[in-house]
Amino acid sequence: MNPQNTDCIFCKIIAGEIPSTIAYRDKDVVVFADIKQDVPVHMLVVPVRHIPSVAVLKDADLPLVGKMVAAANQVAREKGLAERGYRLTINSGADGGQDVQHLHMHLMGGRPLKWEN
Ligand code: AMP
Ligand code: ZN
Repeated sequence: MNPQNTDCIFCKIIAGEIPSTIAYRDKDVVVFADIKQDVPVHMLVVPVRHIPSVAVLKDADLPLVGKMVAAANQVAREKGLAERGYRLTINSGADGGQDVQHLHMHLMGGRPLKWEN
């Protein structure tokens, strides 16, 4: 499979050109481990389609966001996070701390998380 956007690291992960630990995949959504394992569970939930950020989502894309949340919830259950809880975060733009310009949701958990800004 060729990456949709050859400059995009997440498109390359989705296409299998860059190795990653994939926890979930369907035709629309992929969940893989964040390279930064700063908390016991840190996964990234991404649409297969290259969408640069949450800020450019169109109304027609909104079901895809629901699928991303459903995939995150499934992986959270599989990782044993359901009972104690977890965090889903989408960073957008420079002030939001978005470093990779392919829409992604962080799934983090496995210990109590602080809220820092
Ligand atoms: P953000 O700052 O919200 O754009 O998050 C980007 C995330 O991508 C960071 O948490 C990085 O650790 C993660 N990341 C960057 N490169 C890779 C990679 N090759 N595999 C997995 N995660 C990555
Ligand atoms: Zn991409």
